[in-house]
Amino acid sequence: AVPTAPLRARAEIDLGALRANVRALRARTRGAALMAVVKSDGYGHGAVPCARAAVAAGADWLGTATPEEALALRAAGLPGRMLCWLWVPGGPWRQAIEADIDVSVSGLWALREAVEAARQAGRTARVQLKADTGLGRNGCQPADWPELVAEARRAEADHLVRVTGLWSHFACADEPGHPSVADQLDRFREMLAHAEEQGLRPEVRHIANSPATLTVPESHFDLVRTGIAMYGISPSPELGTPADFGLRPVMTLSASLALVKHVPGEHGVSYGHHYVTPGPTTLGLVPVGYADGIPRHASGTGPVLVDGKWRTVAGRVAMDQFVVDLGGDEPAVGSEAVLFGPGDRGEPTAEDWAQACGTIAYEIVTRIGTRVPRVYV
Ligand code: PLP
Repeated sequence: AVPTAPLRARAEIDLGALRANVRALRARTRGAALMAVVKSDGYGHGAVPCARAAVAAGADWLGTATPEEALALRAAGLPGRMLCWLWVPGGPWRQAIEADIDVSVSGLWALREAVEAARQAGRTARVQLKADTGLGRNGCQPADWPELVAEARRAEADHLVRVTGLWSHFACADEPGHPSVADQLDRFREMLAHAEEQGLRPEVRHIANSPATLTVPESHFDLVRTGIAMYGISPSPELGTPADFGLRPVMTLSASLALVKHVPGEHGVSYGHHYVTPGPTTLGLVPVGYADGIPRHASGTGPVLVDGKWRTVAGRVAMDQFVVDLGGDEPAVGSEAVLFGPGDRGEPTAEDWAQACGTIAYEIVTRIGTRVPRVYV
């Protein structure tokens, strides 16, 4: 249980914003179903509460990377369609099949493990075949696709498999106008046509992630898989702000100042003394660090709202704490330091942190550690 006393740090999760984001995304998809992607503990927001909220707001499917993540959602009582896509040999195929989870396969070894597990369970596995249409990561290469499709057809004839989906994933949908998007769509259509000529009748064909859902309507097919946008974060500043898409950030990360003190000029701050006070000033101690997921790359750059002003991480981020130069201001110890949130109280956003750290906002929110309590509002 989360104590109600003032917390060292907290990640406030606005489930109302998440529900509104799901509705805003649904409104863009004109008929395509929506999969709420809740892998990596719901991008750091908490998989189970976010999955529940997404389903309540009309999400049709839940998506996870690992089978363990999907099984955990089932164990928490989430009903409905679910897909998981990141398997290694010897994975929990049988448990997934028995839990009515759709399993993705990218190659023959995986299809064969799914078929064997279905045989043992005396069930028909719901299988989705994943195509590599150009991402160059997971998925079946076009050259290997006919063999995968043929073997899936044979397993369907034996009632061990039902191919429920054919799908793929974009490499560069977050870069406006990137030519690979159209190339991947062409290849996807070719691979779909081949599979359908061979007799596969999938319920869902899908390729769109958040950026494609927001900006490439011809990629929506039967279903879109939205992760980052559902958490109210733009997939890339190049595409626009969350507000441009009618989205609102769901997570607000804040901490209570643990110390406010006067120091003279030329005072080294934190490990390595990479910051030296330019003159007499006040320092505030923010009690979160890289063990909480605050990137060490934020040393000297990360923005924090304290007492109505943006301050910058002074010196290195340590494991459990960092310091901000308050420039002579004296907020009370215990005052709120807001690292990021929606931005409408003047606080930085996760995108601001991503820019300050040379990364993407996906990494900022997913890394917030388990030591930071999630507080659902
Ligand atoms: N589909 C797959 C296969 C993914 O790996 C991801 C996340 O990286 C998503 C969909 C969701 O992507 P996004 O968060 O950009 O919506």
